[in-house]
Amino acid sequence: MACHESPTRESLLAEMREADRQVECGHFIKHEDMKVWLLSWGTGHELPSPKCVCGEAHDAPGRLLADADTSQRPTTKDERPKT
Ligand SMILES: [Zn+2]
Repeated sequence: MACHESPTRESLLAEMREADRQVECGHFIKHEDMKVWLLSWGTGHELPSPKCVCGEAHDAPGRLLADADTSQRPTTKDERPKT
């Protein structure tokens, strides 16, 4: 018996599907960025987690849409001219 668990094919497929969806929305982390980050582990100066290609660091995929919604909120101007 192997002493480490390997991910099931189902969980890998689910992860790939989720990644595909993010790429379609224009949100993904470049493979190079991810590799550099992983290689920095244990070097004493670990890099911050890589950012999405949109320039934002997304913690959870579910936040992608929520962030986009609030940032596009129009500001209402309420000007009252004094006379
Ligand atoms: Zn993004």
